[in-house]
Amino acid sequence: MRSDKRFLVIANWKMNKTEEEAAAFARGFGKISASKVETVICPPFTSLPVLSNKLKGSGVMLGAQNMFYEDSGTYTGEISPLMLKGLCDFVIIGHSERRKTLGETDEMVNRKVKKALEHGLIPIVCVGETSDERDAGKSFDVVGGMVRKALDGVSKEAAVGIDFAYEPLWAISKGAGDKSTKTATPQDAEHMHQFIRKTIAGLYGRGAAEDVRIAYGGSVKADSVAQFTVPKNVDGVLVGGASLDPESFRGVVENAQKSLSGKAAGR
Ligand code: PEP
Repeated sequence: MRSDKRFLVIANWKMNKTEEEAAAFARGFGKISASKVETVICPPFTSLPVLSNKLKGSGVMLGAQNMFYEDSGTYTGEISPLMLKGLCDFVIIGHSERRKTLGETDEMVNRKVKKALEHGLIPIVCVGETSDERDAGKSFDVVGGMVRKALDGVSKEAAVGIDFAYEPLWAISKGAGDKSTKTATPQDAEHMHQFIRKTIAGLYGRGAAEDVRIAYGGSVKADSVAQFTVPKNVDGVLVGGASLDPESFRGVVENAQKSLSGKAAGR
C-alpha cells in the first residue's frame, strides 16, 4: 500500500517561460505549506536547473514535460532520463499535444514509461480521448487501450509507483482567453477514473490499482479545483493555463488543500 498518496497538483507550463521568467515565478510563488497536497511544477527543460535551485525548501517538487527512451546516443535534440535525474523527480509522458502534434505513439509512451521507472523517475502518464472519439462513444475503448499499452511489460511493483493523468482533449484549454473548450464535470472525471482503476485492477489486482494516483486535467483553475477533490477516484489535477501565473497556481494549491482539509474534518 502506497503510504504517501497525497492529492497531486501538477503544473504543466508547456512551451512557456524563459529562465528569467521561471525565476520570477519562483519568487512570486514563495513557499507553500499544504500537507494534503503534493505540488509538482513541470517547466521546460531549460528552467529545471534554476527552479531546482530557487524552489529548494519551498515544498514544491519538479517534473520534466518529456524524456527520451534511451540513456544516450545519436538522438539529436532529445533529453535522456540520466540528464533529468537530480534535477527533478517526475516526468510527464505521452501528453496529448506530443501524441497529436509530434507523432508520439503508444509504443513510444510505453518505452518511455519503462525507461523512467528504470531510472527512478515517476512517470505521469497522460491518457485521454478526442472530441470525435467521445462523440462516437469510443472514450472508454480509447482510454483503456492507452492505459494497457502504456503498462505493457511493466511489473506490478513498478506500476504502483506510476501516476496517471486523464486529460480529455475536448476539455484542455487552447491557451489564454480560450472560450471554445468544453469543461468536464467532476462526474465525467470520476466515471473515467473509475474505469481506469478497473483497467489497472484487471492487470495487477485491486490493491495495486488503489495505490495508483489518477489526476484529472482540463481547464482546472483555482475556482474549480475544489470540486475535483470530492470524487473518490480523482487523486489530483494537472493544470496548464492556470499554472503560469504564481498567484493563480497558488490559488489552485491552496483551494485544493482547503477543500481536502474540510473533507478530512467531515465538513
Ligand atoms: C494540459 O494541457 O495538460 C492542461 C490540463 O491544460 P489546461 O489546464 O490549460 O486545460
